[in-house]
Amino acid sequence: MNFASKLVQKVKARFVQHKLKYYMDKLTEIGLVDLKAWDDNRLKAESLKLKERVRGGVSLDDILVEAYAIAGEAASRVLGMRPFDVQYMAGTALHEGNLVEMQTGEGKTLAAVMPAYLNALQGKGVHVLTFNDYLAGRDAEWMGPVYRFLGLRVGFVKDGMSTAERQEAYSADITYVTAKEAGFDYLRDTIAMKESDIVHRPFHYAIVDEADSLLIDEARVPLVIAGEVASTGGDGSRMANLARELKLGEDYDFDENKRNVFLTEAGAEKAEQILRSGNLYESHNSHLLTSLNCALHAESLLKRDVDYMIRDGKLELIDLYTGRVAENRHWPDGLQAAVEAKEGMTSKSSGKILGTITLQHLLSLYPKVSGMTATAQDSAEEFEETYGLSVVEIPPNRPRIRIDHDSRIFTHKEAKLKALVQEIAQVHATNRPILIGTSSVEESDLLAVELRKAGVTCHVLNAKNDEKEAEVIAKAGELGAVTVSTNMAGRGVDIRLGGGDPVQADQVAKLGGLYVIGTHMNESARIDNQLRGRAGRQGDPGSSRFYVCLEDELINRFGIEKALPSAHRNLKQDEPLEASVFNKKMEHIQRVVMGQNFEMRKTLNKYSDMVEEQRRIQQEKREEVLTNKDSLSSTERYVRLYHMDRTWSDHLAYVSYIREGIHLESLANRNPVDEFHNRIIHAFEQLPEKIESETAKTLKKLGTNGSKEQVDWEKEGLKGPSRTWTYLIQDQFMEKKTNIFGI
Ligand code: ADP
Repeated sequence: MNFASKLVQKVKARFVQHKLKYYMDKLTEIGLVDLKAWDDNRLKAESLKLKERVRGGVSLDDILVEAYAIAGEAASRVLGMRPFDVQYMAGTALHEGNLVEMQTGEGKTLAAVMPAYLNALQGKGVHVLTFNDYLAGRDAEWMGPVYRFLGLRVGFVKDGMSTAERQEAYSADITYVTAKEAGFDYLRDTIAMKESDIVHRPFHYAIVDEADSLLIDEARVPLVIAGEVASTGGDGSRMANLARELKLGEDYDFDENKRNVFLTEAGAEKAEQILRSGNLYESHNSHLLTSLNCALHAESLLKRDVDYMIRDGKLELIDLYTGRVAENRHWPDGLQAAVEAKEGMTSKSSGKILGTITLQHLLSLYPKVSGMTATAQDSAEEFEETYGLSVVEIPPNRPRIRIDHDSRIFTHKEAKLKALVQEIAQVHATNRPILIGTSSVEESDLLAVELRKAGVTCHVLNAKNDEKEAEVIAKAGELGAVTVSTNMAGRGVDIRLGGGDPVQADQVAKLGGLYVIGTHMNESARIDNQLRGRAGRQGDPGSSRFYVCLEDELINRFGIEKALPSAHRNLKQDEPLEASVFNKKMEHIQRVVMGQNFEMRKTLNKYSDMVEEQRRIQQEKREEVLTNKDSLSSTERYVRLYHMDRTWSDHLAYVSYIREGIHLESLANRNPVDEFHNRIIHAFEQLPEKIESETAKTLKKLGTNGSKEQVDWEKEGLKGPSRTWTYLIQDQFMEKKTNIFGI
């Protein structure tokens, strides 16, 4: 470590100490509030008084100590859980809008209750954003009695609820919901034709659970609301055939990160001949070039059963992080159609996009945000730079005694698999529970088969249902359990030694606790740590070890030459390599790749930030129209909203068309970001005039009809989409592997 970074570490450490001291002081104050003598009624009455004081203008900071003491006492009476000191500290840090790092099993769910309660006293609603629907329901139910005891209402939202149910849930003081559901609701609100259809109140405060997953891994995922229109067909199958004819390495190639695909000169010539298109790089051919690029991606970079699967005739995407089917997900339009064409499926109409927002932009609509996760520190810089969130590391309730072993590094895949199976079988023979984290569904299945051959039965976590998954993962700490899971399956669910049985817990502890094995190194050390953190919760014994080989995707992608001294290249041996040198190399690779990903996200943000800015301007104007009670008539209001929505939707289609082809600008020596900005700014400037003239035209056409209150919108051809639906675009995947935009 050089002098400068030592200094930074020192300053950081002092800063953290300083912060922690502040939280400890608060803790002491909370401890001094003695509520034990108060009966339940008194406690409830004091809670109501706090609410009144806040409504009367007292600041939340002024009542924090009292509120936390009351909430803690309520939790202890209602749930039998008295918050640990570290939970009060975490709760205080959350109220201050920090990103709190707290190890797995330390009790983040209860820690969040205190800031949720405090901020809910303002009566503007608090959202606790959970990792999935199942946890939204579970946590609302689990913590609900505490809030109710304190005189507050709690609700949760999940997929499939009606508008009325959602309105009810969002009107509660505290609402547990996934960011995705909250976001889809937000998008539906943005196209509501009546105020009474709106489900959200203005956003107030969000506490994000598993914050690194949402704020970093999924931040750029666009949520989409689409409406029914006829499918446009397109050149999907023609391009899929052409892509099959072109040869990798000869006609097209990848960039060094295997993220982009490029036609070579020979490939372009061949394609031009087959398509009889003339020069593909001329602007009138840009749609052909874009769809050919998509087809080449679909053909060469997206693999069936790794990146997607076909089930019941439907294309289903596999989530890169969880390794499971990502419900409700599409790739961006062109690529989605290309994969469907590659698989010989008739392209389904994906409808017309009516509105879209990334999760990151959605989060920025909340005036106040805080987050919690077991793994924040590794991405502290990104949290700070992107969200202005400081990471606060809360010490564990009981010291962590987990042993993280050095990775075992093998030369080739077979050797790694053999060693893995041997290790698992040996440890399993002692009855010690083992949890194995793999990189894909395919790899989990392969390992399970090999284990079975070696006489080890295991649970493979590939459930399509979060609740079942939670059940299996919760049992991963039982005697003799072997659980093979993909990346982050069952996040947010606690693994207790012995599955919660105290006698068994002792036996498992004597065997060394849960043994976590990673079968590959992830791009980010944060994700590795997430897996390690499954063991050694609440001061339990436990250990972790990663098995890596030089043929692993990450190391390959990074370039084996850069990673290894020449003597070790092309080596094949069964024994692991001498670890210490390689462990350092691995860390280096992770740091470099993480940095690259961060940089790439920043560049990609340059595209979406501008569109979001335009969306907000447009949305503000729309809201004015929707809520304007003294507008000329309700007919005019409807007509104006109708044209605003249509024009915006056309604009989005234009934006996405421009974006799919924009990387080609760099071939003409133009900066794609600047070019993109110029074009969409120009297009956006045309919108108000278009809306005005279309509205005037329609009103004129409606003539006297327009003044009547009842217009048959369908008959007039002014009905909005007959059906809308929502989905996610698998954008983060594009960043990781196949960013077709060449950015
Ligand atoms: P995390 O989300 O931090 O991994 P959870 O909120 O799931 O942790 O809590 C982990 C476990 O600890 C749960 O089983 C919960 O019942 C228990 N727990 C949390 N806080 C307390 C407390 N103050 N007293 C007793 N048990 C607690």
